[in-house]
Amino acid sequence: MPDHDIQIQDGRLSASIDLAVRYLRDDLLIGLPTETVYGLAALASRPKAISKIFQVKARPTNHPLILHLASYRQLEKWAQNVPSYVEVLCEKFWPGALTIVLQRTPQVCDEITGARKTVAIRVPNHQVALALLNRIDDGLVAPSANRFGKVSPTSAKHVVDDLGDQVALVLDGGVCDIGVESTILDCTRSSPQILRHGAISKDELESAANISINLSDGESRASGMLEKHYAPNCRLELVETTADAKRRAAELVSEDQKIEILDFFGDLIVYANQLYARLRQADKSGVDVIIAVMPINTGLGEAIRDRLTKASAASSS
Ligand code: AMP
Ligand code: MG
Repeated sequence: MPDHDIQIQDGRLSASIDLAVRYLRDDLLIGLPTETVYGLAALASRPKAISKIFQVKARPTNHPLILHLASYRQLEKWAQNVPSYVEVLCEKFWPGALTIVLQRTPQVCDEITGARKTVAIRVPNHQVALALLNRIDDGLVAPSANRFGKVSPTSAKHVVDDLGDQVALVLDGGVCDIGVESTILDCTRSSPQILRHGAISKDELESAANISINLSDGESRASGMLEKHYAPNCRLELVETTADAKRRAAELVSEDQKIEILDFFGDLIVYANQLYARLRQADKSGVDVIIAVMPINTGLGEAIRDRLTKASAASSS
């Protein structure tokens, strides 16, 4: 077992940021807090370290990585032919949980994008991530710091639990504020398209930039669009109401199943914030079946429903 105390460094300390910079420049990977989930980070200009991310996560190389930048001002180095409405969106939502897919510049290496001509970019809204990004004169690529297809990490300890022997250190930035991955908006087509739901909703994006957004056409270009993802080891069943959850729980208990109910009674912010920690906790405590009450299908609720639906798809195969 790795030593949590040594490996987890307080991300608010400049000495921890110094150490992280040193490790990154040695092509090592680090755990990085963001407001969405914790990332497994490498420098964007280091193909060797980026390849390690795919190995460590067992992530297919055709699932491109999100590039994290310190500010909008760095965008022109990494993206070109940026539509004018993107400027409005970035102005309003960055730093924040919005990832924008744009045409890439030659600065972006093939390892990041799986050789696509497009790149996904965001500026995270987390003081530790921004402190690090402001030190490196580079970008950071950082997919979620978990094995591909499994539950994302929302604390430094989750990262050590999953990938402790693969990261040089984890910067501790506390529990992630939002708790689910960013909204991804593809801006490389004639009309923008949502590839993944997150805390920033389609309505907010449309009204901020006066645009009309399509939902995904189903072409699987984002791992968030796979049918199975975010999955705990135990079975996950979805119900629409608290009463349904209670009924199903009684049935399962009578079959000697150890169960856990996820129900946040309409509080979407707390639901998103605790979702992954609760899925992880259920696995740790030997739960057989998690019963999750689905939230309403608007705003953040849409993102939570998406994660739960994909997490439960893994249980049924
Ligand atoms: P994560 O797996 O949480 O790191 O999320 C990254 C998501 O962004 C994945 O689902 C990727 O497939 C998606 N993504 C990254 N780059 C691109 C791109 N160039 N075009 C479309 N989706 C992308
Ligand atoms: Mg992920």
